[in-house]
Amino acid sequence: MSNKALLNIDYTHDFVAEDGKLTCGEPAQALENSIVAITEAFIQAGDDVFFAIDAHEANDPHHPESKLFPPHNITGTAGRALYGKLAGLYATHQHSPRVHYFDKTRYSAFTGTNLELKLRERSITELHLVGVCTDICILHTAVDAYNKGFDIVVHRKGVASFNPQGHDFALNHVETTLGGKVI
Ligand code: ZN
Repeated sequence: MSNKALLNIDYTHDFVAEDGKLTCGEPAQALENSIVAITEAFIQAGDDVFFAIDAHEANDPHHPESKLFPPHNITGTAGRALYGKLAGLYATHQHSPRVHYFDKTRYSAFTGTNLELKLRERSITELHLVGVCTDICILHTAVDAYNKGFDIVVHRKGVASFNPQGHDFALNHVETTLGGKVI
């Protein structure tokens, strides 16, 4: 057990697959092997892995994303399934006491979830981030992690966006403004 954990964000069919409802497309598909390898390394090391997965209700007029994005990751649909080999890896280890899965309804994995309690209980101080997309859910989660005093490590080969400029901005922001590492 160490003081670090991996946060695996939104690597689902809707955000990654060619026919996903809000897909990051090829840059996200290209991560498949590396995101699996990074996740596997944390599991093998006995470190905690948290899957934080977007969950929306269909036709929710109250949700702020409804006027910004097409419907995506709707509860009960195949769009919420983890993408590619990550689904198999999760299925293999889902009963491990160190592998956690929870729904989130906002960009940040901290908003409206018990992630912070889980991290504090385990004395985790260093949060590693992988998933999509770099400039939305990864960045918003990193900003919250910074404000809560966690050390941040973003894995360059574990994040992607549909927006290359946004991707570059987010990685730069993590290093220059959040004091995090991009490895
Ligand atoms: Zn969403």
